Amino acid sequence: MTTFKDLGVHPEICAPLERKGITTPFAIQEMTLSVALQGTDLIGQARTGSGKTLAFGIPVVQRSVSPKDPDYIDLPQGKPQALIVAPTRELAMQVSAEISLISEDRGLRVLTVYGGAGYDPQIDALEKGVDIVVGTPGRLIDLANRKVLDLSHVHALVLDEADEMLDLGFLPDVEKLVTLTPETRQTLLFSATMPGAIVALARSYMRHPMNIRAESASERETVPATAQFVYQAHDLDKPEMIGRLLQCEDHDKVVVFARTKRQAQRVADDLAERGFLASPLHGDMQQAARERVMQKFRDGKVDVLVATDVAARGIDVTGVSHVVNYTTPDDEKTYVHRIGRTGRAGATGVAVTFVDWADLHKWKMINKALDLPFDEPAETYSSSEHFLHDMGIPKGTKGRIKAAAPAKPKDKDSGKDGEKRERAPRNRDRQRTRSRGGQVVDKSAAPAAAESAESTKPADGEAKAEGSAPRRRRRRRSSGSGGSAPKADA
Ligand code: ADP
Ligand code: MG
Repeated sequence: MTTFKDLGVHPEICAPLERKGITTPFAIQEMTLSVALQGTDLIGQARTGSGKTLAFGIPVVQRSVSPKDPDYIDLPQGKPQALIVAPTRELAMQVSAEISLISEDRGLRVLTVYGGAGYDPQIDALEKGVDIVVGTPGRLIDLANRKVLDLSHVHALVLDEADEMLDLGFLPDVEKLVTLTPETRQTLLFSATMPGAIVALARSYMRHPMNIRAESASERETVPATAQFVYQAHDLDKPEMIGRLLQCEDHDKVVVFARTKRQAQRVADDLAERGFLASPLHGDMQQAARERVMQKFRDGKVDVLVATDVAARGIDVTGVSHVVNYTTPDDEKTYVHRIGRTGRAGATGVAVTFVDWADLHKWKMINKALDLPFDEPAETYSSSEHFLHDMGIPKGTKGRIKAAAPAKPKDKDSGKDGEKRERAPRNRDRQRTRSRGGQVVDKSAAPAAAESAESTKPADGEAKAEGSAPRRRRRRRSSGSGGSAPKADA
């Protein structure tokens, strides 16, 4: 098997990687390294989680002059040798961590800059001298405008996750940054997809770039190591479903995607109230709070992250076993990006998507665009046999591990109405009929509190469930809807 050493990677870069147990390159790395190490411009396209960071990180670090090299000249203040541009703060920090690792033994100084944090520490670090700067477009331009960051010595420029920069409207900023760097630089552009605007950017600013694609990374290709499940579910039953999912066999970290900040907060609160280590992650939170949450999530002090798309962009946390789409994503691109948060680095992940009745049409469009086999997602409840079976949830598991507060003022029915107001009238009526027969009964506070105390004991829980009239009715209904689960490993 080819190793990084075989591809001509410097021993001082191989060493820190080996310390992390990384010795053999992933496909995109094997394909790009020998070319990029020569200084050639390169466009790398590969799906999320395929190891793009090292594919550009290694050449950038190896081609930077280290203080250990005889030809190293102490660069003037604030003039980095290399610049890596990433769309979000989280992503910049992740990339930076990986670059720092492989720079360790080379003695290169890496700095991360992003908005929402104070200028002073970033300016101080720039003044002390840095070799590689990783940052988000806005802050980089700010620092350049303030004349504390001088990009005229940059020999390598990386545009990471270029398609996300396009989505976030950063393309003009990126172009500005490109023009601040010397024309003789090496430019490396990495992206999961290649929309027209990115191709145009590459054409105008890169010199005979080599195109490298690991696998066919078109949007139609979803992450192969992710098993996908799609269920038509009721909004009020979703927290119960997630609560049960959080107790399935083989679960690790779970990311739930919400449509809005409000929804992310509400779902996280609900799960926390059920006794799970849940936290929201959304744009209304201060940067410091978001970083704290991400750290806790990495450390396993938070099990479930309930995130909005923007806040979750580029999140790379190892050990995410499940991604849950609390509501149907808006388009296939978002779907692919979201489910790419799991099944990373070769590990198998599970993606669960809830489709509301009102979103059925939207889901069908995604299903068609990606050529998935879930055109008619089965009506599914937290107690549905096929759901428990698909997810590997022990029978009798309840969606809470802590007894409900007895006098919880939160009125489930008013919450439901709030939700329904956002729906189309036609669906609202259908929803009401079904939920009444299906599960609102089951959600009344008193029995829920009684049952929940047993929740961690599957056998007891099952006995109780069988003895409860509303539950039995629900079960019959769900099995009547055709229990065969739409599932496949795509
Ligand atoms: P991408 O940018 O393509 O989404 P990343 O570069 O973030 O993917 O890599 C995903 C994960 O895989 C990271 O945790 C990274 O440390 C790990 N990884 C990258 N290359 C290798 C490798 N050759 N062997 C083992 N793990 C790797
Ligand atoms: Mg990446």
